[in-house]
Amino acid sequence: MLAQLKAYPSAAHERNAWILARRGPRNLLDPSRPYAFFVEDERAAGGEIVSTATLLLTNRECPWRCLMCDLWRNTLTESVPSGAIPKQIDYALQRLPEARQIKLYNSGSFFDPRAIPPGDYEAIAERIGLFERVIVECHPSLVGDACLRMRDLLPGRLEVAMGLETVHPEILPRLNKRMTLEGFAAAADFLRANGIDLRAFVLVQPPFMPEGDAIEWAVRSLEFAFDCGAGAATLIPTRGGNGAMEELAAAGDFSPPHLQTLEAAQERGVSLRRGRVFADLWGAETAPGCASCRANRIARIRRMNLEQIVAAPIVCSACAEVK
Ligand code: SF4
Ligand SMILES: [Zn+2]
Repeated sequence: MLAQLKAYPSAAHERNAWILARRGPRNLLDPSRPYAFFVEDERAAGGEIVSTATLLLTNRECPWRCLMCDLWRNTLTESVPSGAIPKQIDYALQRLPEARQIKLYNSGSFFDPRAIPPGDYEAIAERIGLFERVIVECHPSLVGDACLRMRDLLPGRLEVAMGLETVHPEILPRLNKRMTLEGFAAAADFLRANGIDLRAFVLVQPPFMPEGDAIEWAVRSLEFAFDCGAGAATLIPTRGGNGAMEELAAAGDFSPPHLQTLEAAQERGVSLRRGRVFADLWGAETAPGCASCRANRIARIRRMNLEQIVAAPIVCSACAEVK
């Protein structure tokens, strides 16, 4: 049983307003450009290391108001005009080296019609037709026929990434994602039945999670994702930065996970041998943890991302931790 809520509303209908009231300003973005794009290596299901272009598309903000989400900072308040998303893809692909896979991440749901205009699907598919795999993200509630339309337009394989976040029965509802495990599983079934691959995002140490329980719940969440047919799962260390999380931190209801916690969760996840387990290293340089072994631990996590085997442990006399 979790402790009583201190700063955060216990009534679900009060949460959107509470979260919104704590927001800072969003960044000013150009709707004709993605706000970031890069190529990185990723291990594919078959074991090959595959170059992967990632485009962070500029588009309208996600309609959900998840407690831990700060992706709205790089979104627009209005829908982009028709043609803007294909233009963004052109802009990035003209500047990136060749890659075999592409991630089109839009800080929300690719299949939200107010985010990515469905009238642009053909133009998008034309531009990414040479990629072997196309990975988009989507809230489970928006997984449906639009996915099939996109699947049918692509010569390559479609993969949908969904945020499972956590299977903790008290914390998941508090995240204000308005998603149940049954809803996640139903969306996963739909994808599987229709030849679309699934990856899951799992939060490491979400708000309200006692630090000592974080690894165990991350592993249980990975197991659920793999039970649902995920071929890959990414562990995301929960971060502050949206106003709401800072207030929870001040009330003692949130602390970002140590780098060692992320590392241990990945190690346990990889040991399951049920699918690829990636650990998101964004912000790892400033995550809580020991300064003396940080670089070695980051390198170890990067190695486990690529090799999917438990790498040799790091021995550090400064923190006396052996992992
Ligand atoms: S569904 Fe995803 S993008 Fe939307 S608010 Fe929640 S975490 Fe953020
Ligand atoms: Zn150390």
